[in-house]
Amino acid sequence: MTALPLVFDAPRRAAPPRHLADLEPAERRAAVGELGLPGYRADQLARHYFARLTADVDAMTDLPAAARQRLATLLPPLVTPVREQTCDAGATRKTLWRGHDGTLAESVLMGYPDRATACVSSQAGCGMACPFCATGQGGLQRNLSTGEIVEQVRQAAVAARDGALGAPARLSNVVFMGMGEPLANYKRVVAAVRRIIAAAPDGLGISARGVTVSTVGLVPAIDKLAAEQLAVTLAVSLHAPDDELRDTLVPVNTRWKVAEVLAAARRYAQASGRRVSIEYALIRDVNDQPERADLLATMLRRHVGARRVHVNLIPLNPTPGSAWDASPRRVQDEFVRRVRAAQVACTVRDTRGREIAAACGQLAAQA
Ligand code: SAH
Repeated sequence: MTALPLVFDAPRRAAPPRHLADLEPAERRAAVGELGLPGYRADQLARHYFARLTADVDAMTDLPAAARQRLATLLPPLVTPVREQTCDAGATRKTLWRGHDGTLAESVLMGYPDRATACVSSQAGCGMACPFCATGQGGLQRNLSTGEIVEQVRQAAVAARDGALGAPARLSNVVFMGMGEPLANYKRVVAAVRRIIAAAPDGLGISARGVTVSTVGLVPAIDKLAAEQLAVTLAVSLHAPDDELRDTLVPVNTRWKVAEVLAAARRYAQASGRRVSIEYALIRDVNDQPERADLLATMLRRHVGARRVHVNLIPLNPTPGSAWDASPRRVQDEFVRRVRAAQVACTVRDTRGREIAAACGQLAAQA
């Protein structure tokens, strides 16, 4: 396997057109003013978009026709679905979509008895080069705009509402676990989070408790996020408790070591009052040994605090060209037992979407 370079700065590309979802409430009113319309039209437009989830101006019949045509310029199509695939008896649905410049990315919508979750992309591709992740192996194409991220969520909310998962459902959770490293696209991701959690009509009104930002562990950005006081859940993709192995599985570990990442996780947990999720993909004979389970628990207790973490084990999903495999069931069970024996909460993620390459680490956006 050839090692890819780490890429922190996305290639510069023409920005997607300006969209209502890119703008703060005051900026929206200013943009509507530039169109020669009174500021309250911005509030009406936001109500249609965020509260009714409508992006089609022709459906906004409380607006005069002339205003509708002008306001349409604030709702350019950013994210156009090109393919939908479903599995898990219809409860998992992957969308491949195309951006204004032909960029491809993917989102996944998952229905559960008690919730509906959208897994969204923050970048087209990823620069973090994790060798077991299909996205990481494809490299970074570009950052997604705030509007492109919010549009993935809005379209998922529409699909859930309109029964795409079977019965009509309200989108309750958003996880930044699709393509990309969210904290490497910090400003746009934080603006998208604000739009997602703001109460309607300023935003989509999804509870911050239902939003998770997942990172390979960019320490300065974790601290910055803590200072935003957004109360979203932080997930850290750890995958190994020791630097020697983590240097190879999560190459950014060569910058910020396990102890530093865990210390940042602790600060985030303290600032937010929320437990941090530790993601750990179990890879057969690579990171699944009993000693590593014990060391994981020790490191978490020492650097984060047992009550501030929850370990989420992910059975490794196969990716093209990789020789790695998930751990056998008995090895996984023993790993869970040992982490729990150290009083650290630990669960195994129910892996959705494998057959349609929609599971964790499988998003590659191939047309
Ligand atoms: N870049 C962010 C967001 C991606 S989230 C991050 O790394 O956290 C996707 C999660 O799936 C991460 O925890 C990632 O490490 C994990 N993952 C990647 N490839 C996987 C695979 N093949 N099997 C299981 N999990 C995988």
